[in-house]
Amino acid sequence: MAAVFLDTTVYCDLLINLGTQHISARNAIRRYSDVHVPVYAIKEFKRGPLNYFRYFHNKLASLGSYSLTIESLQNLSRTPQRNRVAGALQALRVASLVRFQLATSTHGGISPEERDKAEADEFRLLTRRLIEQAWARRRSIGTHHVELACYAEPNIRRVGKLLDLDPVRCRLINRECCLGPAIRSRQADVSALLSAIPNTGGRREDSRRRAVLKKLRKSSTVSMSDDDCRSLGDAYFALFAPKDATILTTNTKDHEPLAAALGKKVERP
Ligand SMILES: [Zn+2]
Repeated sequence: MAAVFLDTTVYCDLLINLGTQHISARNAIRRYSDVHVPVYAIKEFKRGPLNYFRYFHNKLASLGSYSLTIESLQNLSRTPQRNRVAGALQALRVASLVRFQLATSTHGGISPEERDKAEADEFRLLTRRLIEQAWARRRSIGTHHVELACYAEPNIRRVGKLLDLDPVRCRLINRECCLGPAIRSRQADVSALLSAIPNTGGRREDSRRRAVLKKLRKSSTVSMSDDDCRSLGDAYFALFAPKDATILTTNTKDHEPLAAALGKKVERP
């Protein structure tokens, strides 16, 4: 039986998503005997999708109104922060599905204001449960973990009605992300990735990824920061997928050239 290395998209679908994406991810990993989960994906998950769930949760908590929370998402959707809106809507969708599943009793004989407040509290508590349970179960996905020494998986804190996910950054070792020395010792892979990342097209994530890899060339003396660790993104998965493992991702387009440069395969669930 074969091995698979989960990227953040698939890890997220398995851990916190519901519906068709969750089902296809679950069916996909059943085909493998070894399911490798990098803590890097856990780190990206907390800083990305889980953070968008937190955003939705905390809006409900601070506004105390379901309708005003939706309105704030509507306003945010007109700004460049569309990722945040998409993520928060995912939280709303998953929480709604859970709500229907639970088939809670109807609210009777209360004012629209009370109902709005009750809905906000209900969604807030459901979202908090999703966030806390997902984080508590973060290592229940997969059969192996590819550790990340710079990341200690800090606990989620409740601060009054709010949730706090900090710290979400690397714990620097000798003022550097732990991936720095590991990648610097693989100069051939660094060069292969640099040739594989498009230099044209003007995508910000490509130029950031190139900049990190350039920092990790033998000739460079600049150390790798938390921002660099983050910018590495898809290149991390190409570098650290076990040799015999297929990288499973919903974003094959971005992963494929990087994985191919290092002789690794990419598959979509
Ligand atoms: Zn790091």
